Amino acid sequence: LIQVFLPLNTLGFVFRETRDALLNTEALFTLLDQQPDIQDAPDAAPLAERDTTVRFEHIDFGYDPQRQILHDLSLEIPHGKTFAVVGSSGSGKSTLARLLMRMYDPDRGLVRIGQQDLRQISQESLRQVIGVVPQDPVLFNDTIAYNIGYGKPGATREELVAAARAAQADDFIRLLPEQYDTVVGERGSRLSGGEKQRIAIARAFLKNPPIIVLDEATSALDTRAERAIQGALENVAKDRTSLIIAHRLSTIVGADEIIVMDRGRIAERGRHDDLLAHRGLYAQLWELQRQQQQAETLER
Ligand code: ADP
Ligand code: MG
Repeated sequence: LIQVFLPLNTLGFVFRETRDALLNTEALFTLLDQQPDIQDAPDAAPLAERDTTVRFEHIDFGYDPQRQILHDLSLEIPHGKTFAVVGSSGSGKSTLARLLMRMYDPDRGLVRIGQQDLRQISQESLRQVIGVVPQDPVLFNDTIAYNIGYGKPGATREELVAAARAAQADDFIRLLPEQYDTVVGERGSRLSGGEKQRIAIARAFLKNPPIIVLDEATSALDTRAERAIQGALENVAKDRTSLIIAHRLSTIVGADEIIVMDRGRIAERGRHDDLLAHRGLYAQLWELQRQQQQAETLER
């Protein structure tokens, strides 16, 4: 049994994944007016459709021409569904998310929302329809209220609090010395990792976008802290078209579909139970994490 899992282990598996480059996906996405390389097409228009089905169609992509990362990848996330993406470190999960946020354009193929090609949607509009909860949220050295509120300028205090409640952040905020007016410190240093993430989730609730991208949103947390925000993550993905890059598999058991990535391709896809029964890559990952968690429990 052990031997079966060794090769996977040497790849450095999902839960071991390092907090890789582009930690600040969200910062890039929300704070810059424009990506340096990506320009609006002259005829770019706001997203016109209500259907937010996400379509990756025959995508080839590499960060540089010498090394292709995604290979003829096709995937459709139906409007309002939650899809989880799992796979070993470097398999291309974050790359998918970056293409959806149009931080890059594919070399071949296209990404659509509804029927609209991403390249024909203005970036301002794109930023409005996609909410991102990154693994290491960027907080400003300002108040909690400001940090939740900047996703929606002009939001009322009631709206802020409602968003914080939905993100299961209201309870800890109320315990802070100045509650919503507490200044969070440089990059949020006065908050724990889990608290920062709940602020980022609250921000996403307030923004209320039809599409949600979570990239390893819980990777910085230990199992207990992760459980605490699990409900918040499920709430924010509910009824939105969601792409969830999963850190711990236990968090995505309920996804409408699980996509297992391997070296830039989709190796397996299906619901949790079906994938387990299939006894392939996903089943191996699951078993590996189960053992890992058991070992953790024994250590305590
Ligand atoms: P995952 O999220 O599954 O860990 P990524 O999508 O981040 O994987 O990365 C897929 C591959 O692309 C990896 O081999 C990684 O080294 C490479 N890669 C990621 N980001 C960049 C980048 N900005 N420039 C060059 N290569 C990159
Ligand atoms: Mg990643």
